[in-house]
Amino acid sequence: MAEQGKDNFRDTIGTLNEEGKRAWVFPKKPSGKWYEYRKYVSYILLLFLFSAPFVKINGNQFLMFNVLERRFNIFGAPFWPQDFHLFVIMMIIGVVFVIFFTVAFGRLFCGWVCPQTIFMEMVFRRIEYWIEGDRGKQIRLDKMPWNKEKIRKRVTKWVVFFIISFFIANVFLAYLIGSDQLIRYITEGPFQHVSTLISLLIFTGVFYFVFAWFREQVCIIACPYGRLQGVLLDTKSIVVAYDHKRGEKEEGRARFKKNEDRAATGKGDCIDCFQCVQVCPTGIDIRNGTQLECVNCTACIDACDAMMEAVNLPKGLIRYASEENIEKKKKFEFTPRLKGYSVVLGILIAVFVGMLFLRNDVEARVLRLPGQLYERKENNMISNVYTFKLVNKTVDEIENVTFQLKSHKGIIKVVSHDSFDIPEQGMAEGTLFIEINASALTGDKDRVEIEVLSGDTVIETTTTAFLGPRSYK
Ligand code: SF4
Ligand code: SF4
Repeated sequence: MAEQGKDNFRDTIGTLNEEGKRAWVFPKKPSGKWYEYRKYVSYILLLFLFSAPFVKINGNQFLMFNVLERRFNIFGAPFWPQDFHLFVIMMIIGVVFVIFFTVAFGRLFCGWVCPQTIFMEMVFRRIEYWIEGDRGKQIRLDKMPWNKEKIRKRVTKWVVFFIISFFIANVFLAYLIGSDQLIRYITEGPFQHVSTLISLLIFTGVFYFVFAWFREQVCIIACPYGRLQGVLLDTKSIVVAYDHKRGEKEEGRARFKKNEDRAATGKGDCIDCFQCVQVCPTGIDIRNGTQLECVNCTACIDACDAMMEAVNLPKGLIRYASEENIEKKKKFEFTPRLKGYSVVLGILIAVFVGMLFLRNDVEARVLRLPGQLYERKENNMISNVYTFKLVNKTVDEIENVTFQLKSHKGIIKVVSHDSFDIPEQGMAEGTLFIEINASALTGDKDRVEIEVLSGDTVIETTTTAFLGPRSYK
């Protein structure tokens, strides 16, 4: 610890009082350059978040995570359970990317992109300032007995919070079940779909609980990514940091006296105004050093810059910097650790893109019926029976589907129909027989290649095993 030389701030978290009870944080309303930038970023992200389930590309919802039906759309591309490997690679890329970013830039994600921070700081907190006023007024209101003013303000806030939570829950549901389905449920009336209505109310309750009560505790004690910071950050990671060298100097931090020549006094540039502490949404003092609670929201940078400007000292006492930058004035370095992560990330992205291009619009599986051998027919023909499953990942129906043998001379007979259609984003299943003349077989277990056609166009090729009598080897 820079000022007192003690580390006892690590024994507790800023949002617990001495009795271990929740100490409510009343952060001062931030203002300044970084807060303005964050506002613009949050407007873009909120627009994206709310519109993504309602935008369609080639008829596919832009983003959808239908866990129940195991259908996922990522950037308008549909993924089926058969594409699970792609989904897993995408998740791994996401994780490596976040780790890579964290090693280099600390919790940049938390402060600028995380939906929890965006909703908490840029939606709910701003509504709170609008209804209850800034920090001082909120503290006064909290201490007030339940008079008319407190009831009016608190009830208004809770109602507005509930409505927004309900709205977020609807959008969340659009991601889960699809926006078409959600709109259908709304137009048909929620009481026609009671189970969905109950889920919606549960989601609303969760969002309300998180944003009205749990708040910064999500980042401090619940978020697994937050917990990982201890192992990901190193002395080269760029984080929101207090320049203790400049802030403390030989004499330590001290209040600013009018017209004093700070440099001549030997005192640090920190004027101990506590603005950085009062503005912090997680209730910490950044001057104690990098702490797990810090979500890198930049509010303390703005607060400190405003104070530095007021007392005519250079800005940037709190800024984006690494420990090495502060201690040794070292510039950002592309360390071997970062190089390693970049290589892994590059390989994963290359594998993913390759697999994406190799992915077909139609997935075909032809499997031998378990327990069945082969059947000998007239004219030396050998017959095997199979089940087939064709998945159509496109948004158009595939018509007039037939099979033909590619590797061997023979015939394929689909049980009960010659050709059939596969509905859009649906599948077709059935049974088929493959008949091959015994003289064309090379052994008792041949690998046969089958083409799936729509009209005259080959839309997929698959292979399966064909059993024949041993004597024909
Ligand atoms: S210490 Fe600064 S950057 Fe970190 S959470 Fe508090 S205000 Fe935000
Ligand atoms: S805002 Fe800046 S000057 Fe004020 S206490 Fe924090 S670090 Fe020191």
